[in-house]
Amino acid sequence: MRPRCRREYVDVAAAAFRVVEGRRVEATILLVEDEHSIGQLVRDYLKDEGYAVVWVRSGEEALAEVTRHPVRLVVLDIGLPGIDGFEVCRRLRARSEVPVLMLTARDEEADRVVGFAVGSDDYVPKPFSPRELAARIKAILRRTDPRPPHEMLVLGDVVLAREAREARVAGLQVELTPREFDLLCFLIDNAGVVLGRERLLEQVWGLEFPGGTRTVDQHIAQLRAKLGRPDLIQTVFGVGYKAAGR
Ligand code: CA
Repeated sequence: MRPRCRREYVDVAAAAFRVVEGRRVEATILLVEDEHSIGQLVRDYLKDEGYAVVWVRSGEEALAEVTRHPVRLVVLDIGLPGIDGFEVCRRLRARSEVPVLMLTARDEEADRVVGFAVGSDDYVPKPFSPRELAARIKAILRRTDPRPPHEMLVLGDVVLAREAREARVAGLQVELTPREFDLLCFLIDNAGVVLGRERLLEQVWGLEFPGGTRTVDQHIAQLRAKLGRPDLIQTVFGVGYKAAGR
């Protein structure tokens, strides 16, 4: 079904953006730190960054806490009253894959070696800036995200789900061939940039050049017809094509 054209087009440029959905959900971080000033600093900083923080002062409490509710990452000090951070990490590993970031003493190579040996994912030497700690946490969370990435490319009312390879216009699904889909992704990825036919051939078709640059024109014509959005892909005379926006 061909969606009816609407006046919304005038807003296409303003609406051009990339949405990365489902990545930033509030994650609970378990902070294990007996030193009050450090614990408070880290907790407050991470809360400001949008995380939920559970702060405990000992390894025993930490092990009890992870059984109580799901934790996305553990920030673990080594020097703790009772069992130390290494032992906590070892016991955690015996039952869980939760990422562990250790707070090590400055320049203590041995700490880092033991830390990795007991299964920690990363370390931050003390003293550290909360900003650096937050950056490391973010990197680990990204690396260990159990959910598949769910990236949506959006331009006006055209929405592409890259992994699912689904295209929708104004909410209605549009059937595209794999090549049309790749072509549209590349154009929207580079919205506002003029792309020559050769560049599009290289990027979307790779080494297969069936019919030369005319192939590109044919696919653009098909895309325009299927999307029912003639202004979305603009012809730049003598050069190539660009997706509206940006
Ligand atoms: Ca300590």
